[in-house]
Amino acid sequence: CGIVGYVGPKPALEVVVEGLARLEYRGYDSAGVAILSDGKLQTEKRAGKLANLRAALEQNPRSADGIGIGHTRWATHGAPTDHNAHPHVDNTNRVAVIHNGIIENFAQLRVELEERGCKFRSETDTEVVAHLLSEELKERGDKDLGAAMRSVCRRLEGAFTLVAICEDIPDLVVAARRNSPLVVGRGKGENFLASDVAAFIAHTRDAVELGQDQVVELRPDSVTITDYDGAPAPVREYYVDWDA
Ligand code: GLU
Repeated sequence: CGIVGYVGPKPALEVVVEGLARLEYRGYDSAGVAILSDGKLQTEKRAGKLANLRAALEQNPRSADGIGIGHTRWATHGAPTDHNAHPHVDNTNRVAVIHNGIIENFAQLRVELEERGCKFRSETDTEVVAHLLSEELKERGDKDLGAAMRSVCRRLEGAFTLVAICEDIPDLVVAARRNSPLVVGRGKGENFLASDVAAFIAHTRDAVELGQDQVVELRPDSVTITDYDGAPAPVREYYVDWDA
């Protein structure tokens, strides 16, 4: 339902949770975050209101590096439980993914992944993406999460905004979209993304709208947009001049 991402010098946890709070008006049944804490991927997720997530975070305090993603869920596949809440992680616990929308061909992809030995921990359509990205990175033998995302998106059917981070690439947030909204917020030495500009206008009003079937690679000092084949896409910038 709602998506937030951040990369920059600030501790990401606060930025991401605050962004989720600004999306709360949309309605949701669960909330979760993934951050790097001293270089290690950590997730926290809870069914129910953002207050439940905040309480869980307070019970288990941790420092946050400058990268994080956050999600509010409106369940379509799998009940609104803690373990079905996003983010979803791969079996090595290095890749975390959040998703708005529906992946129509997830059942087939899940069967294939299970045949290759993947263990699933949720009933969501989303979790296949965490495992596919992980497989892709392993097969490629590199740290090109952007290329991995492009390749995975070519195999997905349905409507999605996807955002992923990987423990091995601490300064990169990758996102993709098809039939589901995604906006980038450009800051100075930091960048944001969200399903809705409301999530980041407290930080920046310089926005970039992603087109259909595009992938964005967000680093502290750059925003790179391509199509699913890796061809550069035009950057459509605009200024958010309304008050939220
Ligand atoms: N289909 C996904 C799920 O049920 C994402 C739902 C959403 O857009 O929040 O977990």
